[in-house]
Amino acid sequence: MNFIDFRSDTVTKPTEEMREAMFNAKVGDDVYGEDPTVNRLEALAAQILGKEDALFVTSGTQGNQIAILTHCAPGDEVILEAESHIFLYEGGAASALAGIQTRPLQGLNGAMDPLAVKKAIRGDDIHYPYSGLICLENTHNKAGGRIVPIDTMKSIYEIAKDKDIPVHLDGARLFNAAVATGVSASKFTQYVDTVQVCLSKGLSAPVGSILAGSKSFIKEARKWRKRLGGGLRQVGVLAAPGIIALENMVSRLAEDHTNAKLLAEGLTQIPGLNVCVPNVETNIILCNIKKSGLSNDQFLTLLKDAGILAGPFDDGIIRFVTHREVTSDMVQTAIQSINQIIG
Ligand SMILES: *Cc1c(COP(=O)(O)O)cnc(C)c1O
Repeated sequence: MNFIDFRSDTVTKPTEEMREAMFNAKVGDDVYGEDPTVNRLEALAAQILGKEDALFVTSGTQGNQIAILTHCAPGDEVILEAESHIFLYEGGAASALAGIQTRPLQGLNGAMDPLAVKKAIRGDDIHYPYSGLICLENTHNKAGGRIVPIDTMKSIYEIAKDKDIPVHLDGARLFNAAVATGVSASKFTQYVDTVQVCLSKGLSAPVGSILAGSKSFIKEARKWRKRLGGGLRQVGVLAAPGIIALENMVSRLAEDHTNAKLLAEGLTQIPGLNVCVPNVETNIILCNIKKSGLSNDQFLTLLKDAGILAGPFDDGIIRFVTHREVTSDMVQTAIQSINQIIG
């Protein structure tokens, strides 16, 4: 069966253009710094993100963890949002690898309150850990792809700079925020020291993320990547689709956002389902199914039988994600099918 797959934007396969670029990529040993395609990707990413340098890493998780390892020492405290990906979904890596302790702050729609961040920064007391890093996430996955306002980022950055604490952005879906607001990615990243962006989500590359920051930060990050076993050799075959992701796949994210609104409006009209349509700012839809009386498992099984895949999120909440392989026709088909099953 050909499923309409709303589980995640990570399911997007490389385009024909990407596969051709992979086939034709000029390669070398990237641990020696000799892969021209990787070098081109890293230079392009640094420029787009407004940073001095960038590093191609295996995944978003690896990028975030290398950032924490590079910024922090064991025993430091990392301030982050209570439902952030780094806190919820990275297997406790920040504790296991960097030996830091996390300080989760409950945000509103994924955005931490700058004053709460200011209060959470530790004073100079022998009992306290050092505040080693502040992590932001934009768009915020668990909040349903919500955009953290650039003014909030600016306020937090100013507080951090005043205390000499670095700020890292988990920008797995930063380009979704940029396209939805019409504000360039580098405008967002001017208020962080380092940023991780995923090439393998909505941008459709098969593998990889970018970590960007200052020259001295990336030099140290490159060493951490090697320590973690992430120093790859003729990896230009994977960097080549990454270049296409950055050059040709960003602006089309707008289609995913339009389709997400369409799906949200359709779902919320089905009895038993609720979506807060104005909260759908990018490509993630959180659908409340509690009134349908179905459990997440029951709901997802019914959908699957009808050829539709989505993902469980919280109790009674199902996540739908739009992406390049879901057309507006497929969204209409899905709405009709779900209406027939549930309505
Ligand atoms: C997907 C995601 C990551 C991790 O990326 P992987 O490549 O799956 O490791 C990090 N942060 C956010 C917000 C994500 O959505």
